Amino acid sequence: MKLSSHEQVLSFCQARQVVENQARRLKPAATEKVSLNRSLARFLASPIRADRDFPPFPRATRDGFAVRSADLAVIPARLKIVGEIKAGAAPESMPRRLLPGEAVAIMTGAPVPMETDAVLMQEHTRPCHDGLIEALQQVAAGENIVPRGAEAGESQLLFDVGTRLTPTGIAVAASAGYATVTVFRRPQVAVLATGDEIVPVHTFPGPCQIRDSNLHSLAAQIELAGGEAVPLPIAPDHPRELRELIAMALQHDLALLSGGVSMGKYDLVEDVLKEFKAEFYFTGARIQPGRPIVFGEAEAPVKRQRKRSGTAREPAEVRRVPFFGLPGNPVSTLVTFELFVAPVLRALAGGEPAPLLFASARLKTELRTPTGLTRFLPAKLSGGPGSIEVEYLNSRGSGDLVCASCANCYLVVPDDRERINAGEAVSVLIFGTELR
Ligand code: AMP
Ligand code: MG
Repeated sequence: MKLSSHEQVLSFCQARQVVENQARRLKPAATEKVSLNRSLARFLASPIRADRDFPPFPRATRDGFAVRSADLAVIPARLKIVGEIKAGAAPESMPRRLLPGEAVAIMTGAPVPMETDAVLMQEHTRPCHDGLIEALQQVAAGENIVPRGAEAGESQLLFDVGTRLTPTGIAVAASAGYATVTVFRRPQVAVLATGDEIVPVHTFPGPCQIRDSNLHSLAAQIELAGGEAVPLPIAPDHPRELRELIAMALQHDLALLSGGVSMGKYDLVEDVLKEFKAEFYFTGARIQPGRPIVFGEAEAPVKRQRKRSGTAREPAEVRRVPFFGLPGNPVSTLVTFELFVAPVLRALAGGEPAPLLFASARLKTELRTPTGLTRFLPAKLSGGPGSIEVEYLNSRGSGDLVCASCANCYLVVPDDRERINAGEAVSVLIFGTELR
């Protein structure tokens, strides 16, 4: 769905749907090879396959004795220990084939000899004289052994293109022999804060100035979502400077603009974007915080190239770049990034848009809110398994970063709920779970 008319204010679900649809159209850029140790949170650009069976031999999972389970039909049973296999030893290092009534000492991670079908744990035995042990418990066939290839077979696909590497994924890749992996290049995300009152973090603000926190929260969120933030200088609320900086922002894979999208006289971002042939997918969402959010794509101005003598200038390809105009209030910026920017960034980084992770919890105290907007209120989850409770925090609104920093989730209030009673089940959104 592409909406080009102005003023397209959607419900939360509609806006999210538009974002996911647009995200699916986007493709990641180039690929690169990185060492496995630098691959955390990167998206795979080529698949990872098992280079051999996992495990490559029937593996003992306990220290104890490799036995024939049938020998322990009646316990206590006496077994003759005829050798030892430690981790790393070849089964051929065994002195000879095991006969009934014989067993071999074995260590965790060692290959189990062919004639045996279970590992009896050390703790379930008692040493006897003359190289014998007494088995005090029975074992089922297969107990404490992982058969060859049970976890994955040779050449099996372990991770497809688009998988994001977690610490566990990295361990799997290492087991399959990948010292390097091919991943998608991180998308370059321009971050442009706007506002006459905004000053960079290293300057001392005047009495009515505000330090730029959005650049830094966005840069952190971009990094977590798999992108690389490119900070631009703060844009004043002035069309000429704003135009120049938006032109710079559109030279990247994604442009994030913060502030200047509300209804105020100096909220100029949308008007300036129109000068770059912007198409707006939506210009607002019925949510709180974050109502004035703007999403669309615009034309990246072609950088002027010097004409080399004797060569005809190639007609430059027009590139369209997705952008978001995020409301400047710091909590709105944080929330709208998670709700709408993350899926787009993830697609540009080479992944699928991850669904929002909702959980259910009991509301601790009654909550009353006006209807009409889906609300995301900073809240705190507590409790344990089976009794998870959520308490909304007493926020001073979308500018109250201090309160938001105490939250570990956002309580989601549907747009038609005026009152939610204490003890009712409510949905919460847990952010910061990008490594999925
Ligand atoms: P705006 O969306 O431009 O109307 O800004 C809404 C509120 O957010 C105002 O109080 C701004 O001062 C504040 N704000 C805007 N941009 C930033 C920023 N980069 N860092 C911190 N606060 C901001
Ligand atoms: Mg402003």
